[in-house]
Amino acid sequence: MRIGIIGTGVAGSLLAEGLHGFDVTAFERVAPGDQAESGTGLNIGPNALKALRLHLPARHAALRAASLPWQRWFIDLADGTRLFDLDLLQVAEEPGVRIRWSELYRLLRAPVAACTRHGHALEALEEDDAGRLVPVFRTKTGLVREGGFDLLVGADGRYSRLRALAAGEAEGTLLGVCIWRLLVADAADCPYDDYGQWFQGNARLLSFRVPGGAVYIAGTFPLPEDGQIPEAMKTAAAQRALFTPAAAAPCDAVAWMLARIEQHLAQIHWARSATVPVLRHALDGRALFLGDAAQAMVPTLGQGATQAVECGVVAARVLRAGGDAAAVAAARDARVEFVRDFSMAASDTLLPPVDVVAGTRSKMGSDFLARLRRLYTEVD
Ligand SMILES: Cc1cc2nc3c(=O)[nH]c(=O)nc-3n(C[C@H](O)[C@H](O)[C@H](O)COP(=O)(O)OP(=O)(O)OC[C@H]3O[C@@H](n4cnc5c(N)ncnc54)[C@H](O)[C@@H]3O)c2cc1C
Repeated sequence: MRIGIIGTGVAGSLLAEGLHGFDVTAFERVAPGDQAESGTGLNIGPNALKALRLHLPARHAALRAASLPWQRWFIDLADGTRLFDLDLLQVAEEPGVRIRWSELYRLLRAPVAACTRHGHALEALEEDDAGRLVPVFRTKTGLVREGGFDLLVGADGRYSRLRALAAGEAEGTLLGVCIWRLLVADAADCPYDDYGQWFQGNARLLSFRVPGGAVYIAGTFPLPEDGQIPEAMKTAAAQRALFTPAAAAPCDAVAWMLARIEQHLAQIHWARSATVPVLRHALDGRALFLGDAAQAMVPTLGQGATQAVECGVVAARVLRAGGDAAAVAAARDARVEFVRDFSMAASDTLLPPVDVVAGTRSKMGSDFLARLRRLYTEVD
């Protein structure tokens, strides 16, 4: 069976590595060594680490070596009042990780370099006489075809070209919040380390250190009725007003982040949080979708890349055993629906009229912690 993988991000790289020895070619639109599109940091959940530990131990070791452990999760108000404090080992078998995107892509792409054709952006889809899918790529030298594939895997992210070609453009649903991201490179004086969140009303800062003396900061705030990000919110003064408590000074951590927002405003990446409906396969199982291409979800629980890891590992296991796209769906979809629903439910405090103090304190309750345990450990 000839397998083509579109995209060597998280899911695509891990699938290609897990299918080592099979007839696999991966196609990636960026050039070798180009991780430039990934300027920020991310946290990856303990469930991804468990999947790697069980099925790709070399990648587990490489990820641990290139990252910091994510073991603690605290939630404060912007004045420093603590609402929630969790040691992840209460609900997980091992910590998650904190890492730079560029580093994550580097260490996932390295083992599959030999089977990857870089500079190949999927553009169109054709069929050969045997009914196999023939992807058409745009390269520096024009459009190229690389023959027919029995299975074509769309691991090309949230705006998957393969999904659009095989099943039509996926229609996203907006959560109603703006999410911005910033990586502060020189952050030796940062007053915190592991994963924290700070609320002012429903607006929230999230931040943690990543390797190399850098700090990742993400901000979210509710959007107006029209769902657009107001230009007026993209100023340091507006962000300062958004995250400064009405009746008290901001705590040290929030004051530090507000100063960094002011210094690095031009580097902030602004986006809107959205989901797309789950689609695992199309074209009678000849096209399979993994990661964001199948299941883009809101980033509230840090499960987007984490689920892409699970997808890559599980799909490799199923395909190696002779399974098809329907078998991958059977192994993945119920789990993905649980994670998407949980991520959405955990987003409650990001939108009015939910009371942040009551909503956050309820997350220390047995129901939320039981769901977290299921999220972080139900991986086989
Ligand atoms: C603001 C924000 C914060 C986030 N924070 C976190 C977090 O902390 N933790 C977490 O787990 N997740 C997080 N995520 C989610 C995470 O970014 C994605 O879920 C994850 O990258 C999905 O992995 P993937 O392998 O499906 O796709 P990607 O990692 O996006 O990889 C897709 C690959 O396909 C390639 N490609 C795209 N189009 C083509 C084409 N036409 N032809 C060939 N190649 C193509 C791309 O170059 C890329 O290499 C966040 C997302 C956002 C927006």
